[in-house]
Amino acid sequence: MGGNLGDCTSALLDALFASGGPTSKCVLCSAPSELGALFIPNDAQLWGAPAGKHRMVGYGLCAACYARPDLSDVVEERIFGWVAGGAA
Ligand SMILES: [Zn+2]
Repeated sequence: MGGNLGDCTSALLDALFASGGPTSKCVLCSAPSELGALFIPNDAQLWGAPAGKHRMVGYGLCAACYARPDLSDVVEERIFGWVAGGAA
């Protein structure tokens, strides 16, 4: 029991989404976020991770942006902007 990925992820999310954290605002429009998510790219190296490492990026979303039909595209674009800009 315990120690599985689900437990780790939920602890990580708790830390990420603590008030005032970087995910407390919507990644797309900066409104207060109503839910949080983790972006885990398939090719982590492309996203700035050292070879062989994974990379995870936590982000918040408001309900309006969560409902966007192009959500995954715009979120990926935004997060890639952070990574490319070294602001992660
Ligand atoms: Zn939003």
